[in-house]
Amino acid sequence: MQSDNKNLNDGDKYYKYCPNCKTELQRKIIDNETRLFCLSCSFIFWNNPKPVTSIIIEKDKKVLMLQRSNKPFKNYWVLPGGFTGYEETAEQSIIREAKEETGLNVKIKSIVCLSN
Ligand SMILES: [Zn+2]
Repeated sequence: MQSDNKNLNDGDKYYKYCPNCKTELQRKIIDNETRLFCLSCSFIFWNNPKPVTSIIIEKDKKVLMLQRSNKPFKNYWVLPGGFTGYEETAEQSIIREAKEETGLNVKIKSIVCLSN
């Protein structure tokens, strides 16, 4: 199968069927990248690394928290953040996630913790 997008994850080399329901996976643009997607159960093969960012946004000695609207942990209070994209640095992820989740354009003061 020939890739029609240089950012296409490598999932199509390994996965033809959904691991959840065995339906043949389709290509779909999700978050500006072509990904393998299951029309039957909405499974998405993200093929991204597991690193995540959590962002401490402080103002007037208060920290901005978000209440999750989706599973898992629906209604829990969390710091803004999320998964780092496949070709994204931690800094790029922080700026993107802050904008996506809060609408704020943030300037990074420091990285508090970076660990494996
Ligand atoms: Zn499926």
